[in-house]
Amino acid sequence: MRALRRFTVRAQLPDALAPLQLLATNLRWSWHKPTQDLFAGLDPQAWDRAGHDPVRLLGELSTARIAELAADEATVARVRELADDLATYLAEPRWYQQRRAEDPSLPAAVAYFSMEFGVSEVLPNYSGGLGVLAGDHLKAASDLGMPLIGVGLLYRSGYFRQTLSLDGWQLEHYPILDPQGLPLQLLTDGAGKTVLVEVAMPGGALLKARVWQAAVGRVPLLLLDSDIEENEPDLRGITDRLYGGDQDHRIRQEILVGIGGVRAVRAYCAITGHPAPEVFHTNEGHAGFLGLERIRELQDGPGLSFDDALATVRAGTVFTTHTPVPAGIDRFPVDMVRHYFSADLLPGVPTDRVLALGSEDNPAMFNMAHMGLRLAQRANGVSKLHGAVSRDMFGKLWEGFDADEVPIGSVTNGVHGATWEAREITELCGEPGSDASGVTDEELWQLRNTLRARLVAEVRRRVREAWLERGASTPELGWTDHVFDENVLTVGFARRVPTYKRLTLMLRDRDRLRELLLDPHRPVQLVVAGKSHPADDGGKALIQEIVRFADDPAVRHRIVFLPDYDMSMARFLYWGCDVWLNNPLRPLEACGTSGMKAALNGGLNLSIRDGWWDELYDGRNGWAIPTADGVDDPHRRDDLEANALYELLATQVAPAFYERENGVPTRWVELVRHTLTTLRPKVQATRMVIEYAEKLYAPAARAAAAVSADGYAGAKEIAAYRSRLDAAWPQVQIVGVDASGLPDTPVVGAPMTVRAGVVLGGLDPADVTVQAVVGHVDDADELTATETVAMAHVGAADGVDRFEAVVPLPAAGLTGYTVRVLPHHELLASPAELGKVVLPTITA
Ligand SMILES: *Cc1c(COP(=O)(O)O)cnc(C)c1O
Repeated sequence: MRALRRFTVRAQLPDALAPLQLLATNLRWSWHKPTQDLFAGLDPQAWDRAGHDPVRLLGELSTARIAELAADEATVARVRELADDLATYLAEPRWYQQRRAEDPSLPAAVAYFSMEFGVSEVLPNYSGGLGVLAGDHLKAASDLGMPLIGVGLLYRSGYFRQTLSLDGWQLEHYPILDPQGLPLQLLTDGAGKTVLVEVAMPGGALLKARVWQAAVGRVPLLLLDSDIEENEPDLRGITDRLYGGDQDHRIRQEILVGIGGVRAVRAYCAITGHPAPEVFHTNEGHAGFLGLERIRELQDGPGLSFDDALATVRAGTVFTTHTPVPAGIDRFPVDMVRHYFSADLLPGVPTDRVLALGSEDNPAMFNMAHMGLRLAQRANGVSKLHGAVSRDMFGKLWEGFDADEVPIGSVTNGVHGATWEAREITELCGEPGSDASGVTDEELWQLRNTLRARLVAEVRRRVREAWLERGASTPELGWTDHVFDENVLTVGFARRVPTYKRLTLMLRDRDRLRELLLDPHRPVQLVVAGKSHPADDGGKALIQEIVRFADDPAVRHRIVFLPDYDMSMARFLYWGCDVWLNNPLRPLEACGTSGMKAALNGGLNLSIRDGWWDELYDGRNGWAIPTADGVDDPHRRDDLEANALYELLATQVAPAFYERENGVPTRWVELVRHTLTTLRPKVQATRMVIEYAEKLYAPAARAAAAVSADGYAGAKEIAAYRSRLDAAWPQVQIVGVDASGLPDTPVVGAPMTVRAGVVLGGLDPADVTVQAVVGHVDDADELTATETVAMAHVGAADGVDRFEAVVPLPAAGLTGYTVRVLPHHELLASPAELGKVVLPTITA
């Protein structure tokens, strides 16, 4: 008989074992090996049956086994010890407390919004890189003691599970998750009543959501869930799936996570006494409506105008863009946004102002990334290269500025070491950054062999399981015991399957690939995995191509496609692969983090110089696949880059792996050692979170404090300044520029006096910065390698203000200069912030 509904009943634990409940529900166990060992030791078979999920394990333990464990002194003592250890971890002062004692401007709390969170496979609330990154951000924040609150949605089915049809086509399954069986707790008020967040929908309906809390070490993660009886049926389904449904479904999810998310944070802080966030961090545009809710709060509470509230919100908001792929940017039809915002959603917030925040080239579309940038005073990309690409991509919002002046910085992503590193690495090499020079080549090589062997066993298990799913029967599957070889160079390639990642680049020349796989002396084995978005048939066709290639009995022992890439599979791949392959179309990979996780384990990257690899490849930690950047024909470009990949594998990678001295590949081990000593510390998520704290959160908290002090005096001032500027700016004009003081043939360093007359259109000289810009000029008279010098106000006559500066000539060669006028206000983060600049209309 099939169950109509299912739910989970938690085990009743005797007092002696009661702390297991907390050890199981605080997700710190997912990166704390001693706690994992404790759970595994309670009942190894049950642990396996439970898929290494402590909450499920506690449900699997028989009453007899529980009684037995409760009577075992050693177990009881170990439980108490680890519970004490967790209590200490949760309470003791850590990095953040120390830093904040030195610098009180660090925020009392930060709210971190994301559409997905991948903390652990037991909470499958993510689809890929963005979610796993968000999970790693929370874990590193916890380790650092940073008071962060994560905010997102709880999906009834999470992302889909992938299987394959017999002919290699991706099939999607959406298992229903029961929140009661997950490491979650409902947010309830003092009276034990479930907190319901409410958001107004068009037509008078009210969307309600309960709030689940996950404990990620010290960091609470709040997940909103609309699947409750109090909702009308069509609203219950809003949190059904991650990245499923149409645009209408999507905008409702985003309204819930942004607007409902802020309301959930307010309820959480009121109930628990957690300090209110001073900084709101939006990851991608998805949760961007949170800024509008905060504008509403400031209008309703302190009674600010829209503009004053906007200035306040901007100061305390950080926006991180995670994609340089235009199709990856969220956009909605303007009419759809108008439909939702004209209702009672945010009373008092003018819809036309909302629409202006999301405006873009196409007047019919509302752009969530543009809104994110306009609602945040600080913004960043996720690697140096991605920062540069973003400055270019969003440069139109700062028209008149050179790309390098666009105020979008970068913080390179990182990965959570304790989550992604095999325990043997830590045991052998110590903590990241410690001196591992005492570790011998033999020991390092042994360790790599151990990790590869573990992957090979996992590959065999999964290949077999995948074939059973595809309809094969056990007697046909003897060959799967001989898939892969523990001693063969193992290359991994696993990621989502959007076009730019080029899953099938390796198939460009199939004969060449077969030769590499089947080389009698230096074979390569290749493990491939990845999910295609359910609506992307193109991506599914790519998967099918790989699967069909790998199904060929001639190569199937050397190349496998493993279905259902997720964190539990990823771990084995990052541990065991000798080489991590990445061949995106440069520069479309914003950062990429899987290669970092491989590097933590001594895996060597073989990658296009894109994302993080562009800045951290150093010639001794792996290989850079040369890119055919200038080649416009995509087929030709693929050919060139695929060829370069084969060439590197055959002439560099395989020889280094197979050349042995006394059984050890000395050159290889040297690369592994260099990776572990130099790359491992740099790719840590703690490094990333510290950078966010110092470069973005602390300045944002200072800015927020500056605009809110004295009854929001600063916000009112900057808002008034902006409106004065808007009115006057069209009249601002540079009416005369000249330079003097130079001899006929000037030399570097010679002082040049630049003078300019500026019509200020009613602005005060102190409202602007007038700059002389000097630099190299090219044939088109474009200035490059510029230096800017602020010009002093030296007087006014006939409605023209005069400015002047002495500028030493910066470099030899063809030199030019110009003058420009920029806004100036001490509460601006940069002169480019408002996207306003006046340049001379006549050539000087
Ligand atoms: C790290 C990780 C990703 C992201 O990897 P990319 O290099 O950004 O593609 C995706 N999925 C899982 C399960 C991961 O662990």
